[in-house]
Amino acid sequence: MNTTTNQIQDQPVDMRRQDMPAAPTELIDYCRQLDEWVKAQTGEMATQSEPQAPKMGETIRHLGKTGSLEEMGLVEFNLLALATNLRQVCDLFRQHFPNNPLALEMAPALADRPENDPIHDWFTIAAPGKGKPGETRTVVQALTAAIQQWAYERETEEHTLLELLHWAAAPFRRWTVHRYREELASMITNERGHCPICNREPDLAELSSSEHGRRYLHCLPCDLRWHFKRIGCPHCGNMNFDRLGYLLVGNDQAYKIYHCEECKSYLKTIDRRDDNAPLHSPSLLLENAKTCFLDLLAVEHGFQPTPD
Ligand SMILES: [Zn+2]
Ligand SMILES: [Zn+2]
Repeated sequence: MNTTTNQIQDQPVDMRRQDMPAAPTELIDYCRQLDEWVKAQTGEMATQSEPQAPKMGETIRHLGKTGSLEEMGLVEFNLLALATNLRQVCDLFRQHFPNNPLALEMAPALADRPENDPIHDWFTIAAPGKGKPGETRTVVQALTAAIQQWAYERETEEHTLLELLHWAAAPFRRWTVHRYREELASMITNERGHCPICNREPDLAELSSSEHGRRYLHCLPCDLRWHFKRIGCPHCGNMNFDRLGYLLVGNDQAYKIYHCEECKSYLKTIDRRDDNAPLHSPSLLLENAKTCFLDLLAVEHGFQPTPD
C-alpha cells in the first residue's frame, strides 16, 4: 500500500492507483445488522412517542461549542428500553465476534449465569440518585462510569463496551434529532467539534460536493451531521497549518485522513468535491466499516481517533 503524507497547503505527491483493501466480512455483517437494528428501533419509537417537542428553539440554536441536547435533558430515555437495547447490541457483537476477549468475558454472564448479568449491575449502579450528592449526570454518563469500573476490574478494554452503549442509546438520540430537526438545522456549529446531541467526538467528516467543499462532521449513532469550519482540528481546536496535514492511500482523492500534530488525533474524511467520489455504501455506518483500512493506516502513523 502506497501512502503519502502532506501538509494541507501541499499537493499530494503519490498518484498511483491502488485498490482499496477489503474490510473483514464479520465487521461488515455486524455493521449491516447494527444499521438495520438501529433503524428499526428508531422507527418503533416514532410510533410510540409524542412527536411534539417542548419549544427550545433559541436555547438550542445558541448552544455553542459545548453542552449537548442530552445534557440539557432533551433526550428522553426509557431505562428499561435502554437496558434491553444494550443487551441486544451486546448479543449482536458477541454473535459476530465470538472470540473477541470482551465477548468471552461477557458470554457466561449474559448467557448462562443471569445472576451475574453485568448489564443489570451497570443499571443498578447508574440508577437516578446513586451519584454523588449534588452531582448532575446523564444516564449515559452514569452508565459510562459503571462500565469503566467493570472493565477496569476485569482488565478488559472499555472502548468497545462504551461504543455498544452509544448504539444502545442511538434510537433515543435519533428520535431527538427528528423532534428538534428544525432547531438543529439553524444551529451555529462551525466551532463545534462534538456532536450536538450526545457530545461524542465525530466518527468521520465529509467535504460536500454541492457546497464547494463545505465540511460536515458526522456522528454515526445519532445519524447527525453538522457544519464545521473547513480548516482546523475539531478535537483540540488547533489552527496552525504547520501542525495539520493529511494522508492519502494511493491516488484515491475521495478518502483522506486529516491529522493534527498538536493532539495526535485524526479525522477520516470523505472528500466528495469530485462528483465521482465513490461511496462504498449509501449507509454511512457501512461506509465507515468498509474504509476501516484508513483507520488502521492512521493508527500505524501514530494517530488516534480521539486525543488521549
Ligand atoms: Zn451523537
Ligand atoms: Zn488536534
